[in-house]
Amino acid sequence: MKKVFLMMMVLMFLNIVVQAQKKSLKGSMPFKAPCTTLMGSALLPTAIDTTQGRSVANNDLIWENGDVILVKFMDDVGSQSLRNMIMQYAKSWEQYANITFKFVPDNTPVTNIRVKLGSRDDNLGHNSQLGIACNNVPQYLQTLNLDTSDFIDYKAYVEQYKKGGPFLEYLKRKGTNFNNYTYGDLYKDVVAFKDPNIKWNYSSMRGTTTHEFGHALGLLHEQSYPNGIKWNKDTVYKYYAKYQGWNKAKVDFNVLEASDIFYTNGTSYDPLSIMHYPVLAWQTLDGFTVGSNTELSDGDKKIIAALYPKDKKISELAVPKIQITNIDYGEIKTDNVKKGLLIYPSFDIQTSALLGTVYFVARLTTEDGMYYIPTTNENYSWNKMAATYVKMRLMPSTNTSFNKNGKKNLELFFPFKEMPDLKGQKVKVEFSVYQDDVVNNRYQKLTFNFLSSPVTVPGK
Ligand SMILES: [Zn+2]
Repeated sequence: MKKVFLMMMVLMFLNIVVQAQKKSLKGSMPFKAPCTTLMGSALLPTAIDTTQGRSVANNDLIWENGDVILVKFMDDVGSQSLRNMIMQYAKSWEQYANITFKFVPDNTPVTNIRVKLGSRDDNLGHNSQLGIACNNVPQYLQTLNLDTSDFIDYKAYVEQYKKGGPFLEYLKRKGTNFNNYTYGDLYKDVVAFKDPNIKWNYSSMRGTTTHEFGHALGLLHEQSYPNGIKWNKDTVYKYYAKYQGWNKAKVDFNVLEASDIFYTNGTSYDPLSIMHYPVLAWQTLDGFTVGSNTELSDGDKKIIAALYPKDKKISELAVPKIQITNIDYGEIKTDNVKKGLLIYPSFDIQTSALLGTVYFVARLTTEDGMYYIPTTNENYSWNKMAATYVKMRLMPSTNTSFNKNGKKNLELFFPFKEMPDLKGQKVKVEFSVYQDDVVNNRYQKLTFNFLSSPVTVPGK
C-alpha cells in the first residue's frame, strides 16, 4: 500500500514537472506549402502566342463544355467525412460551370482525375494536372495531390498542448521531451497522432481544394498576370529557396513570370481569385498584398462560366483542340519501287467540338536528331526544311486511330528525288502534328512530335 502511494506521489511530481515545462512552444508555426502545379509541365515545348495580357486559363486544355469528369480518390486514403468535404469544395465550381465532377468508387478502373490524399511525410504537396492533360496520365498515377496535413487546425492542438486534452495525453504516453519543444515538433506530432476526432481547418481545406480543382478545369495562377504585381524579386527568390528549396527557374515559373502561353480571355487582374497565391508586403516593391483566398471570387465565377457556359452548347472561348494518345513509332521504310520513304506514324487522335485542320508533318533530321535538313525544294518543305506533309480536316468530336491494329490508313510519302542530296546518309524522321488555329489567328500550333530511329537514304 505504501509502495503504491509512493508511486502515485512520484507520478504526480513528474506530472507537475511536465506541466511546468510544456507551457511554451519554441520556433514559429510552419508554413502551409504553396501550390506546386507546374504551368509548363502539362504543356507543350513550343508554346506560341500571345498578344496582350493573358487569361486565367489555358484554353487548349479545357474540357468539352458539359463534360462529366470522373474523379476518384486513390489508395483507400481519407475518412469519408474528409472526402465529403473535398468533394463539396470541388463541386463548388459546378454552380458556375457547365461541368460535373462525378466521384466514383476507388476501384473504378478508368477515371479522368485521381486525387491522392497525402501528408507532409510524402512531400507531394498540392498540385494538379491542367485540364484535359489529366487524360495523359497513366491510370495508376494520381493527377491531383492534396497534402492533408495542411488542412489540420493546428491551433486546436496548440490549445490542447497548453491546456490539456487527448493530444497532450498522447504526447505524454509516447514520452515526449518537452524541453525545447517547437511548433515544428508539434505539427509533426499532430500528424502522427492520427486523431480519430481530427480538427480540420475548413477554410484552408476549401481554399486549397478549390484552387487545385480550378487547375483541373484548366485555370492557371492568377499572380502571373502581367504587371499585376510589382515583385521584389530578390526577396522572393530567397524566400522560396529557404522554405521550399526552389531554384530561381522554378520561382520564375510558378510565381513570377507571366507566361506567354496563356490565352487572353478578356479578364482583368483579379487579386481575389482563388487561383492567386498569397502575396506578402515584403514580396512587392510597393507593399501590395494578397491574402489567402479561400473562396471563389466574382472573377473566378465569371471566367469559369465563360469557359463552360450553361446557356450555350460551345463556349465562345473554345478553341479547336486535338488530343493525341497511344503514340508509337509506327513504321518507316524505304521503298525501292516507289523510290521514296514511306512513313506510317501510329497514334489515336481525338477532336473537340470544333472542327480542326491539322497537318501531319514528317521532317528529316540529322542522324543525331539535332538538326533539320534545309532544302530548296518548295513542295517538299516545311519552313524551308526537308519535309513531307498531309493536310487533313478532322470532324468534330471524333476518335480516329491511325496505323493501328495492322491497318494502314495514314501514309506520308517522301520521294528520294525531292530530297536534298543525302545519298548514303543516315537520317531520322521527326513526325509532328500541327494544328491550324484559325480562331486565334495562329498558324502551326504544334501538338506533338516524335523522332524515328535512323534510316539510310539510298539516293535518287
Ligand atoms: Zn496552383
